[in-house]
Amino acid sequence: MALLSVQEARQRILTHFQPNGTETLPLITCAQRVLAVDIFATTDLPPFDNSSMDGFALRAEDSSQTNAALITLSVIGDIPAGSSPSIVIMPNTAARIMTGAQIPQGANSVIPVEETNFTNQEAGSLLPNEVILSKAVKPGENIRPRGMDVKAGEIVLRAGKTITPQDLGLLATLGQAQISVYKKPRIALFSSGDELLEVSDSLTSGKIRDSNSYMLGGLIESAGAECIRLGVAKDQREAVQALLEKAVAEKVDLILSSAGVSVGAYDFVKDVIESNGRLDFWKVNMRPGKPLAFGAYRGIPFIGLPGNPVSAFVGFEVFVREAISKLRGASDGIRLKVRVRCAEAIESDGRESYLRAVVSEVNGSYLATLTGHQGSGNLLSLVQANALLIIPAGVKSAPVGQEMEAWLL
Ligand code: AMP
Ligand code: MG
Repeated sequence: MALLSVQEARQRILTHFQPNGTETLPLITCAQRVLAVDIFATTDLPPFDNSSMDGFALRAEDSSQTNAALITLSVIGDIPAGSSPSIVIMPNTAARIMTGAQIPQGANSVIPVEETNFTNQEAGSLLPNEVILSKAVKPGENIRPRGMDVKAGEIVLRAGKTITPQDLGLLATLGQAQISVYKKPRIALFSSGDELLEVSDSLTSGKIRDSNSYMLGGLIESAGAECIRLGVAKDQREAVQALLEKAVAEKVDLILSSAGVSVGAYDFVKDVIESNGRLDFWKVNMRPGKPLAFGAYRGIPFIGLPGNPVSAFVGFEVFVREAISKLRGASDGIRLKVRVRCAEAIESDGRESYLRAVVSEVNGSYLATLTGHQGSGNLLSLVQANALLIIPAGVKSAPVGQEMEAWLL
């Protein structure tokens, strides 16, 4: 069995994944989907010069005479938001205007209502005949000019971007009712092991509850894919094969399993994959999660993660998350990597190690403290962590203060 570096194993896996076509969907359904095309602005934003304040639209020059406190303008119109003003502001006149309303011809600034004598700021208040200004305004003041945010024709979002709620807002503003996105990958997931019980079962002698399918299912969904949950296979060839056949019938893009891929006497998953497809079984030079099965079952890519919960989690983060990103067509979605300092001395065995840590900011730099017992069966240390601290291959010890990379979870 080959001993591979993490980088090499990752590269070998990733070459097998690409997006599975595109579809056009109503904007409302596009959160977390990935854009398949660049988005060009169809209009300027804002589309017209408008007021950033409730106040009075005027000619700035009329406000800046020497005796400013006494300047009185006659109010010749009212411009609520949404109206299309037809009035023209002439010397020594003004129009009442609301935030977001279009600036009338002739006006080049807005004085906020708070800077006038028009104290009646109640909703529904009547239009005054005149307004007294308590300060001068400059040309352009309190006006949001057409195109200040976005110019028509410019690219505002790139293909490959995961659509965030903010993106939905921008797309809506631009009138993009239908969006071309990549198809959402479908990933089949199963656990394997005679010891596994359902979450609602009471514990009996020798048994544990299947936690991996909950954790991995959550990871799949939070990575932007659909999880097809196939349940638990007993440690028997036929049971494993039956679930793999279900995955084929579901036409999934990837089959993901946990456990049963090691060198135990009851680890049948590798055998079944091999007899119906192709299997690469590697020892990856990492900790936790050394054994990793990769291949294809009836042409569908297969990744067999280790059974120990922490190993399964790390295996997902190191190998599966990026594969899902490629299936989604995404150029983002990878964990944020930061440089941190170790708050304690760290021992390692020379394998590339992914340790559970809490990263916090102390005096402007990031400090990593390990959480609890680092054994690969200990879920609590994973639950308490907000980062994986990466000890590079070849490093056997690191002193306090050593700089390392961490992935923020
Ligand atoms: P295996 O890879 O089958 O040798 O399993 C390795 C370890 O992971 C054993 O202690 C299993 O009991 C445990 N394990 C396997 N599958 C799961 C699962 N779905 N949930 C929690 N622990 C598991
Ligand atoms: Mg097992």
